[in-house]
Amino acid sequence: MHIFEDYFIPEIIDPDTLKTLPPGETGELVFTTITKEAIPVIRYRTRDVSCLKFEPCSCGRTHVRMKRVSGRTDDMLIIRGVNVFPSQIESVLMEIEGTEPHYQMVVERKGNLDILEVQVEVSEKLFSDEVKKLEDLERKIKTEIESVLSVSVNVKLVEPKTIE
Ligand SMILES: [Zn+2]
Repeated sequence: MHIFEDYFIPEIIDPDTLKTLPPGETGELVFTTITKEAIPVIRYRTRDVSCLKFEPCSCGRTHVRMKRVSGRTDDMLIIRGVNVFPSQIESVLMEIEGTEPHYQMVVERKGNLDILEVQVEVSEKLFSDEVKKLEDLERKIKTEIESVLSVSVNVKLVEPKTIE
């Protein structure tokens, strides 16, 4: 997506230090309006996580492009140095049959280590099924989430309608 740079100045910042990040890095998208009158917006923090692409585009437009928003800084967790977004967990669960759309992320600190547990509701039918099936599902979810996040997680299947 091209940004109209004759109307907006986009920046990518580190949401913690608020420092501008070098081109190509992923962080929080910040906009300043150039032409807006009466209510100018100066370094407005969108809370959206994205990345700016300065390479030429095949369509011929020369304005900078932004990558698709990958999450929100206000729901970003940092687990052992890795940025984790609930939307990543969601995308995995949507692909797996037998899970309900409800899940909860629980972060605990043991010593210096953050432990992320993902509690997932499973369907009524599956929950009454044999234990081995549940264990297989648990393992599958764990593997899929870990491959997306690149950080190890614990997965716990819970009964339907038990997550608030
Ligand atoms: Zn283009």
